[in-house]
Amino acid sequence: MRDMVRRFTAEQITPYAATWDEQHSFPREVYTKMAELGLMGMTTPEEYGGSALSRLSGALIYEELAKGDMATAVGLSVHNMITGSIARFGNEEQRRRWVPHLASGRLLGAFSLSEASAGSDAASLQCRAERREDTYLINGTKLWVTNGGEADIYLLMARTTPGSGSAGVSCFVIEKGTPGFSFGKTERKMGLHSSPTRELIFENCVIPAAQRLGAEGQGFKIALSSLDGGRINIGAVAVGVAQAAFETATRYAGEREQFGRPINTFQAVQFMLADMAMKIEAARLLVYEAAYKLDTGQSSGMYASMAKCFATDIAMEVTTNAVQVLGGAGYVRDYPVERYMRDIKVAQIFEGTNQIQRVVIARSLLANLRQQT
Ligand SMILES: Cc1cc2nc3c(=O)[nH]c(=O)nc-3n(C[C@H](O)[C@H](O)[C@H](O)COP(=O)(O)OP(=O)(O)OC[C@H]3O[C@@H](n4cnc5c(N)ncnc54)[C@H](O)[C@@H]3O)c2cc1C
Repeated sequence: MRDMVRRFTAEQITPYAATWDEQHSFPREVYTKMAELGLMGMTTPEEYGGSALSRLSGALIYEELAKGDMATAVGLSVHNMITGSIARFGNEEQRRRWVPHLASGRLLGAFSLSEASAGSDAASLQCRAERREDTYLINGTKLWVTNGGEADIYLLMARTTPGSGSAGVSCFVIEKGTPGFSFGKTERKMGLHSSPTRELIFENCVIPAAQRLGAEGQGFKIALSSLDGGRINIGAVAVGVAQAAFETATRYAGEREQFGRPINTFQAVQFMLADMAMKIEAARLLVYEAAYKLDTGQSSGMYASMAKCFATDIAMEVTTNAVQVLGGAGYVRDYPVERYMRDIKVAQIFEGTNQIQRVVIARSLLANLRQQT
């Protein structure tokens, strides 16, 4: 799988990534091709058209894709969160209705939890879903939706019980084109330009109660469980971006001469490269460990947070230092390292900021300690 995705990335993604970034264009056709490779339902059971891959295989795949284009790898990760969540939490009718079409790439998915005043404190979300006999009436605005506008299926977290924190949140599957559901502004971002980030607007949007995923009040749990896998994916994406930056810097350092010799003969440059290699390897192993724990049913939430936090912090450092190794050439668009650096910044922010990952890690550590005493 890894070798196949590596070839696919080299042929279908890497040569075009700079243009997609420059033109802010979303390469929908690449998703169709990724579906043909079985990447649109990665961990989904085969009976619903998925590939039933392990999380560890998934990590290898995201790493390879992100070497070519982080935006595409992130869009695919979000899509797979939707396919996986409906396959896992949906009833049989819901699974049959959506999962095979998501896995085949005919439909694209998006995940909508965040709001203007509910980011890190996602449980305070206000978008309202009121039960009316066999339907729900949805009103509110959601922000920051990756694949927003392009996606056909939206996993929406909305409040079914006012004022009851995370226990009052339920999860819904919303189809693009439903009356009362429209799109607001598209964010103008520092990087990740070929990944659309869009606002969703719900104005008296009525959906059948049969589109609720799981029980009323289970929405926050579904969101958090989707994020466990998502965080490992983002860790893998970060390793891929860091590896690509490292390879560019290493090549450049061998070719560029100053003071009559290649810059890779200066110890200051060598140490930057050595630190990059060492830290990427550590991040990679932590991501694989978290994926393995999830695959084998071990308690994995803390490891998913560690993998996401560590790998994205390392990738930020590595891409910044890759720009440094290239000097002025690193700061302009002739080389991809400035794009890697712009793109990776958001990985320290989304799927829970790295401060929130540390909160999750500390909470798990303290709970474990209490159990032992
Ligand atoms: C490009 C992009 C794509 C995104 N895609 C999606 C998506 O598809 N779906 C979706 O639902 N959301 C998405 N998001 C939203 C993302 O998950 C949020 O931006 C993120 O959770 C942080 O929320 P916030 O931006 O409101 O920051 P805030 O929560 O306002 O945080 C601001 C700062 O305060 C810190 N902080 C907050 N609380 C604490 C605390 N308790 N302890 C320590 N520090 C704290 C944060 O770490 C951060 O540094 C996306 C965001 C971006 C930028």
